[in-house]
Amino acid sequence: FLTGKTAVVTGSNSGIGLGVAHQLAKAGAGVVLNSFTDRDEDHALAEEMAREHGVKVRYIKADMSKADECRALIEKAGACDILVNNAGIQHVAPIPEFPVEKWDAIIAINMNSAFHTTAAALPMMRKAGWGRIVNIASAHGLTASPFKSAYVTAKHGVVGLTKVTGLETAQEKITCNAICPGYVLTPLVEAQIPDTMKEYDMSREDVIKKVMLERQPSKEFATVEEIGDTTVFLCSNAAAQITGTTISVDGGWTAL
Ligand code: NAD
Repeated sequence: FLTGKTAVVTGSNSGIGLGVAHQLAKAGAGVVLNSFTDRDEDHALAEEMAREHGVKVRYIKADMSKADECRALIEKAGACDILVNNAGIQHVAPIPEFPVEKWDAIIAINMNSAFHTTAAALPMMRKAGWGRIVNIASAHGLTASPFKSAYVTAKHGVVGLTKVTGLETAQEKITCNAICPGYVLTPLVEAQIPDTMKEYDMSREDVIKKVMLERQPSKEFATVEEIGDTTVFLCSNAAAQITGTTISVDGGWTAL
């Protein structure tokens, strides 16, 4: 049902972004994949997705830590009916030791980029008379954990931006919502296992069970397909009056 629409998914050569892009392509949308690299394998991902779903897929390099590149991504896409702000990084450290450059990078990539892409995409959506903005926030946009100061701050910011964008577009056929996933097993989560092992002095198995899935009552990771299908739902007519809010896909985490 998304045939004829163009979806731009930031940070989509891996993990949740790639999963979301696949589900949007499966629903018929043309897709723009993105990351900050420009490798053959990035372009190969686009070719593979185009072949699999029979839609137009392009890969456009843009660094989401840079305001001008965020805006240029949307301009280069040429059309943006669906914008998924997904690019994100993580760093785990207590506040006094938290590296300033990591703080700046997380705030830029996880939060500021969504502002810049939204600012560039809204005029296009208004011209088209329809639009969907889906911000991939986190359970950490609604609650906190120790040692994740920048991430929790950025994700709470994204939830705030989602509300404002929902209000500014409330009387148009444009919606803006945030999906708040709990733990999804992606390269981002894999990468924080060693640091968390150090922080809590635990084995890999114990970090997965006692730290990560401890907070997730379902005791299961959410999947990238589930996040993708939630995005597709938010793009459907059924979700036309859902705006400026959050949908948790967290196995009950935020109910605790
Ligand atoms: P991931 O590391 O697999 O993917 C992150 C993506 O962002 C990659 O495609 C990467 O290339 C891209 N990226 C990183 N820096 C970038 C930059 N400067 N410019 C452009 N792209 C950049 O991680 P993921 O788990 O798939 O995370 C995706 C999003 O989902 C993030 O915003 C993350 O905070 C959020 N999230 C993840 C989980 C989880 O458990 N995995 C839970 C809640 C929220």
